Amino acid sequence: MLKKTVSEIFKIFQNQQPQPQTELVYTNNYTLLVAVILSAQATDISVNKATQSLFKIVDNPQKMLEIGEEQLKKYISTIGLFNGKASNIIKMSKILIEKFDGQIPQNFEQLNSLPGVGRKTANVVLNCAFGIPTIGVDTHVFRVANRLGLVNEINEEKTEKALLKIIPQEFLQYAHHWLILHGRYVCMARKPNCQNCQIAKFCQKKFS
Ligand code: SF4
Repeated sequence: MLKKTVSEIFKIFQNQQPQPQTELVYTNNYTLLVAVILSAQATDISVNKATQSLFKIVDNPQKMLEIGEEQLKKYISTIGLFNGKASNIIKMSKILIEKFDGQIPQNFEQLNSLPGVGRKTANVVLNCAFGIPTIGVDTHVFRVANRLGLVNEINEEKTEKALLKIIPQEFLQYAHHWLILHGRYVCMARKPNCQNCQIAKFCQKKFS
């Protein structure tokens, strides 16, 4: 897709919502990281419901270790894959204390090395916590970017790298939020709402 077209698409997103934010509720960088880990294959709404009580008593890795894995499971038991996520969050919290002085590293490789933290989670945390113009590619970003024709890639990592090349710098900070919101509310997986899509004229896969 031509860079000029990409700019036009992101200008439309920008006009609709100049500074979109994640829909996950969090209180600091640590709770953001926990919320993003919990959001894998789960909706933000389900994560927010579960963390509402959890984040009142846990807002740092030390407090997470103090409540422990079994107690954590009780808070997050309504979220899919909660057993594995609880185990990863406890291990991740231990490493944050032992290696990073309890702080969230501002570095992709270090974040990506933590249990439960894949590329998407590391990029979302870098973007939302530290304002670094990264693109976390989740299922929505992957679907929208490839349907629309921004990129033509076979997996999330390739999509991320291709998006970083094609999206103009001025839009990078909010690009993944715009694509997520578009995928969540307009370009849904099963029933994309092409009739009401503001960027339909640029789309390479518009459904009639
Ligand atoms: S026209 Fe349809 S398929 Fe294309 S981006 Fe819009 S909603 Fe998605």
